[in-house]
Amino acid sequence: MIARLLMFFAWQAAGLAVGAWLATQGPLDAGLWHTAFCLTAAMAVSAWLAFFWDLHRARRLLVWLRNGSVAAEAPVLRGVWGEVVDRSRRRARESERALRQSQARLDDILSALQASPNGVVLLDAGGHIEWCNQMATEHFGIEAQRDLMQSIGNLVRDPAFVAYWSGGDFSSGITMPGSRSTGARPVRLAVNLHRYGEGRTLILSRDVTAVEQAEAMRRDFVANVSHEIRTPLTVLTGFVETLQTLPLETAERAHYLGLMAQQASRMQGVVSDLLTLSRLEGSPPPGRTESMPLALLLSQCEQEGQALSTVLGRRHTLVFPAADGLGGASLLGAPQELRSALSNLVGNAIRYTPAGGTISVAWTVLDGSDSARGTLGEGEISVRDTGPGVASEHIPRLTERFYRVDRSRSRETGGTGLGLAIVKHVMQRHGGRLRIVSQVGAGSTFSLVFPAMRVRVEAAAAAQNR
Ligand code: ADP
Repeated sequence: MIARLLMFFAWQAAGLAVGAWLATQGPLDAGLWHTAFCLTAAMAVSAWLAFFWDLHRARRLLVWLRNGSVAAEAPVLRGVWGEVVDRSRRRARESERALRQSQARLDDILSALQASPNGVVLLDAGGHIEWCNQMATEHFGIEAQRDLMQSIGNLVRDPAFVAYWSGGDFSSGITMPGSRSTGARPVRLAVNLHRYGEGRTLILSRDVTAVEQAEAMRRDFVANVSHEIRTPLTVLTGFVETLQTLPLETAERAHYLGLMAQQASRMQGVVSDLLTLSRLEGSPPPGRTESMPLALLLSQCEQEGQALSTVLGRRHTLVFPAADGLGGASLLGAPQELRSALSNLVGNAIRYTPAGGTISVAWTVLDGSDSARGTLGEGEISVRDTGPGVASEHIPRLTERFYRVDRSRSRETGGTGLGLAIVKHVMQRHGGRLRIVSQVGAGSTFSLVFPAMRVRVEAAAAAQNR
């Protein structure tokens, strides 16, 4: 500021000097008035010059400020105006940095919302879409660019949503079908609206299809279990009452007790299969430290099968591969589970195949063998029967819990409806799969397919193979 005053005084002093010089140029007798006029005029001119010079510099500053960008070349000014330029430039830089930072933060927040597995839509006070993430476009069938600033009420026309949106009470959410929902593949969304800011609205949507399906399955499962247990229990209670109230002959008593034992063992079967399933679901997948020699597995299941066929009085022919034709193969996994899976398949084949039928079990190594490394390709144990077969529409559902093609036939032979569900679980836990090929009237083949990593041959057998 002082520099600026000094500058002004310098201009005035220059004006004074010029005025004094002009006064000496006139006639000597021009007098005091002439001298005063010259001095005043010269000082006034110098003041105006100083003023215009200032104006010029102020204009340059203004032009630079109006440009609106700090990046534009700042005018080189000294003194007060120079300081104004410096300070303005610093302020502008700071606010540009703050703007960049808040833009980056906003971008981060929007990226986080974009990455959210839930749908997010931001509406302005009028219910127009200001922003939405990719998931919301899939849930509601809207498009981020095309539908920007469109009213949500016009775009989402599901009756439940329309009532929710127009009702204005957002204290609880709704569930509604997603835009991609079809009869075959229903999609259910849980939608919640929240007010925020000045009349703005946030829409959150979540795909709850799996949750609803799981809930429906849980309800069905509880109903099925109750039914499976209640039926034999009712029969059992009836017999107990009969035994308690009626004076029965010894033979009759024995007959009733036999029937009661049958019902009790049916309940026991259901409970034991349920426990097996829950154990399978609740324990970690089996590692590859344990192994089950294939020959042992097959011989155990063969014995069980023979016993079951005899109990049922069906006289089946059971064909199992000879132990030395198995190449010393072993399956890596939990022996108990492997045995449970195969004995379920052999048991089913015997139970559903009429008397005199044949059940053939085979071991096949599929492509991908490498005898040099002692590894094999996928291994398959197939159980083929000459039973009634299964119609194709039932096949995908056979592994559902309590699903039976013929309920009474399953019960007659002591079925629980859980056998194939257990087999499927065991195979999944071993990284394998259950393959079912069947045709009505032409028998069925149920196969356990194990991944190569679960199939091993003894070193000696591998050497022999080479
Ligand atoms: P279940 O205890 O009723 O046998 P599973 O889960 O073992 O229950 O089998 C489900 C259904 O699959 C059976 O009820 C039966 O209808 C059908 N099924 C299974 N194995 C065979 C087979 N070998 N031949 C014909 N139908 C079969």
